[in-house]
Amino acid sequence: MKYEAVIGLEVHVQLSTNTKIFCPCSTRYSGNEPNTSVCEVCSGQPGVLPVLNAEVLKRAVKTGLALNCSIAKRTKFDRKNYFYPDLPKGYQVSQFDMPICEKGYIVVNDGLAEGKKDKKIGITRIHMEEDAGKNVHGADGKSSFVDYNRAGVPLLEIVSEPDIRTSSEAKEYLEKLKTILKYIDVSDCNMEDGSLRCDANVSVRPAGETKLGTKVEIKNMNSFRGVQKAIDYEIERQIKVCESGSKITQETRLYDEAKAVTLTMRKKEEAFDYRYFPEPDLPPYDIAQKDIDAIRSTLPELPDAKFSRYLDEMQLSAYDASLLAGNPSLAAFFDRCAAGYKNYKAITNWLLGDISKKMNELGIDDIFDARIRPEHLLEMLALIDNGTISGKIAKTVIDEIFASGEKPAKIIEKLGLVQISDDSFILNIINEVVAENPKSISDYISGKEAAVGFLVGQIMKKTRGKANPRIVNEMLITELAKLKNA
Ligand code: ADP
Ligand code: ZN
Ligand code: MG
Repeated sequence: MKYEAVIGLEVHVQLSTNTKIFCPCSTRYSGNEPNTSVCEVCSGQPGVLPVLNAEVLKRAVKTGLALNCSIAKRTKFDRKNYFYPDLPKGYQVSQFDMPICEKGYIVVNDGLAEGKKDKKIGITRIHMEEDAGKNVHGADGKSSFVDYNRAGVPLLEIVSEPDIRTSSEAKEYLEKLKTILKYIDVSDCNMEDGSLRCDANVSVRPAGETKLGTKVEIKNMNSFRGVQKAIDYEIERQIKVCESGSKITQETRLYDEAKAVTLTMRKKEEAFDYRYFPEPDLPPYDIAQKDIDAIRSTLPELPDAKFSRYLDEMQLSAYDASLLAGNPSLAAFFDRCAAGYKNYKAITNWLLGDISKKMNELGIDDIFDARIRPEHLLEMLALIDNGTISGKIAKTVIDEIFASGEKPAKIIEKLGLVQISDDSFILNIINEVVAENPKSISDYISGKEAAVGFLVGQIMKKTRGKANPRIVNEMLITELAKLKNA
């Protein structure tokens, strides 16, 4: 029998606000001593009242709008009850039946560059909640400690519909989500440092069946690649169970990265009954349409719109457009260059070619962390266009911009890189090369055009790449024609 997988993702993102969700404690505790970014509210002392950080609500609405959701007119918080030492109050303040956002979607392409079709993955809901602290286990194996620095850090939980069918579609969804969240600047979205966490719900069913199968929830993945591998493993495992005639057990499984397998964590019978209660210490919030509109007006151009603009208005290839639009910093850099220079393809080639290569070499993720600025690239492109430097020399200029942050004109002067366009100088070199390579000359005369390339190479070598290649080509052809006709 053929099986189809059904996948829904639950993503937690940490909002990069300065302070926690219900108290003024700083969220920038990384590297600090345990329990130094805590107060009576986030450590769960009795008799204190939470106050909602307005920035959290704003960012939740912004995220909802960017993900095509409808925003609740009224939203409220609830207590999700469970006991765990990292949860100081014995409940997490979350949202149950009146989440801030519902019914959105993300468009994925599953490899748009290869021309596949767009697909909408539904977003069921987005809600706000507080993070828990962290348990730290002692080296003696007998003691545990708890650090509440993370308790009360604001999170958004973004729940997808079970619309995803393959692990690569899941990865595409996560990548698109991360790109959008970075564009709107609400979260750092870093899976390695925990500011983005993802649980995957996976079931299988016979192809063509419309009812959902029993789902398994997988936790503990710490990269997009890990999510993809965990899903692949789980789909295969479930198909085997079905084919053996057994039933899938509803359970939570943990992904073991080292072994690349999923393992049972708890069965349905052991699942928590959270028993949500309305949070009595926080009022319901009414959200005015004018406030939603004001937030909407702060949204930047989002990746799908950017992609279409690059494709339709700037005539970039789908591949180039998706690489640029998929990287908020690179796209911002490109936009700033494109505002001052109309050869968009040239900007793209430099950005996605030599500049990206250089960033990889240096381990730089964000182009704005490198020393190159749009002004550098614009100046360099102008110097190529007016013949001051060749494209080959420009590569050296790029290296030097990355090293020193100096302006291209200054670098060219400093390193003596100005292109040689002087006819009589070039002619001298051509004559030298012709004299030194009688074999290539006779090859050319007997019709082997390839000899030209070799001779150009020799000339460029003698001028250490500084001769203007266009002039070299033209003059060499003229000289060779003279020899041929002589
Ligand atoms: P729970 O009550 O267990 O939290 P939800 O209905 O809230 O389950 O769904 C949680 C996530 O699981 C959502 O992302 C949803 O799309 C996904 N999901 C629900 N049912 C299935 C299923 N049968 N197979 C795969 N994913 C599912
Ligand atoms: Zn606090
Ligand atoms: Mg749920």
